[in-house]
Amino acid sequence: MKKYDFVVIGSGLGGLCAAIILAKENKKVLVLEQHFKPGGYLHSFKRHGWQFETGFHFSPELGDSQILQMYWKYLGILDKLELIPYNKDHFHSLQFPDFRLDLHSGLDSMQELLNKTFPDEKKAIDLFIKKITELKRYFVYFNRDHIGDMDKEHSSFEVSVMDFLNSIGASEKLKAVLLAHSYLYGVPPSETPLGTHAIFFNALYSSTTDIKGGGDALCNALVESLKENGGDILFKKKVTQIKTENKKICGVVTEDESYYECDSIIFSANPKLAFSMFDENPFRSAYTNRIMEMENTSSHFGAYIATSADLSNYKHDTLYFPSYDIDELYKNPASALPNDSFMYFTVPTARLGKTPDGKELIETISMDTYNNYQQWSDSKFGKRPQEYKDFKLQIQENVLRQLESHIPEIAGKIDFIESSTPLTNEHFTNSPQGCIFGIKHNMEQMRAPIRAKTKLDGFYYTGQSLIFPGIVGVTITSFVTCSDILGQQYLFDKIDKETR
Ligand SMILES: Cc1cc2nc3c(=O)[nH]c(=O)nc-3n(C[C@H](O)[C@H](O)[C@H](O)COP(=O)(O)OP(=O)(O)OC[C@H]3O[C@@H](n4cnc5c(N)ncnc54)[C@H](O)[C@@H]3O)c2cc1C
Repeated sequence: MKKYDFVVIGSGLGGLCAAIILAKENKKVLVLEQHFKPGGYLHSFKRHGWQFETGFHFSPELGDSQILQMYWKYLGILDKLELIPYNKDHFHSLQFPDFRLDLHSGLDSMQELLNKTFPDEKKAIDLFIKKITELKRYFVYFNRDHIGDMDKEHSSFEVSVMDFLNSIGASEKLKAVLLAHSYLYGVPPSETPLGTHAIFFNALYSSTTDIKGGGDALCNALVESLKENGGDILFKKKVTQIKTENKKICGVVTEDESYYECDSIIFSANPKLAFSMFDENPFRSAYTNRIMEMENTSSHFGAYIATSADLSNYKHDTLYFPSYDIDELYKNPASALPNDSFMYFTVPTARLGKTPDGKELIETISMDTYNNYQQWSDSKFGKRPQEYKDFKLQIQENVLRQLESHIPEIAGKIDFIESSTPLTNEHFTNSPQGCIFGIKHNMEQMRAPIRAKTKLDGFYYTGQSLIFPGIVGVTITSFVTCSDILGQQYLFDKIDKETR
């Protein structure tokens, strides 16, 4: 039987990127995925021939010479994808009950818009933009010249973005605008490190890009590149055991009792899942307890809709907030059936073209909590009890009622609707409590973040729980993990050679 240098557990974005980087080094790499297709949260699904996205709607930093272009070029996927940029003058809309702002790409252009919208707050706006631009310079992996400052990077995790905005005297309304995209990493602004928000803010306003074919196209490109570089991937292979000998990794066992021999493991699923896979936990109890006690991000309720309404005016994505207090977003889970709550919605067909049968597709995200579904956690996907189905339907109707208030054109024109809950997330991605962004990147947990390299020889973590979630964050995290294996300077030199 073939012995692998690396087994990568999980074929989400993090696992696939790490696998390609290692396969490019002529390492023998095998990716094992529990699901029947690759992608984890990049997963999309089809109903009646319509493709719906779950965890991919847009990616920042894919404009010409932006940082993700560099990494994706290195991974050999950039040329395999058709990138469709959002409209620069209106990529997202922030909507509040009494106020709407259509956002522009580019920090300069955004600053101009903010100055026009908040003419009395030019000083606070200037201080904020200067600060977040300065902070990005400290993060070595986010700069094309690979120059950063580790100490300053770490100190940016010591203050919350909310405290910073309060210290510069930003009004409630300005704060709401500057903090609105905290939903992209799932942490309330009062708990978010300034450095984390700075990275997301810079990335988001750099550019936003869709991909023709969505998450599936991205996964297919990643898998193709992996195979071109000699890597292997197997599906319906849930890893249940990690085998060690003399404190060294020697292989993994999957649910169907297959054994795969390897020297090293890249663990890309939620880090908490690793410990129970060892016959005898090789880590110190202080380390294990610290990770096991870390809080996960919350989950979400998703709705997937096909409509015969014409939605060509909805090329932008919309983020609706019932109040200016962005922390509130996390306190109104969809399953509590609120009258009015946070909602993100996107109409990909408005940008990419209607479906062949002339429909528009809508995808919505509402925050949700696993607790309200806990009672059905033992039931199996496809065989959930009627009580769960009725509850889900009630939430779906509530979400649809709210969506109709934002897109009145769809009233009476819904051809199809299906929804997902935290239990759906858990089933398809094996993420504990269906959490959507892995372990929460809040101040407390980012003081001692989970590192890629562990004390167990040959065992590495990657994925959204480590540094940052999201397409940019997870891609970069896989390079951080592989730097620990290959050497940072070596990898940067190779990236420069192959991408300049
Ligand atoms: C609703 C939603 C919308 C989002 N929208 C965007 C967006 O528009 N733009 C953006 O930048 N980001 C977005 N994100 C975030 C982004 O999708 C994620 O950060 C990213 O895909 C996570 O990748 P990952 O590899 O870290 O984790 P995952 O995608 O969770 O991958 C982990 C993989 O491991 C597998 N696995 C788990 N356990 C095992 C096991 N025991 N054996 C084998 N395999 C296992 C899982 O099946 C999964 O494939 C969104 C996320 C969600 C949930």
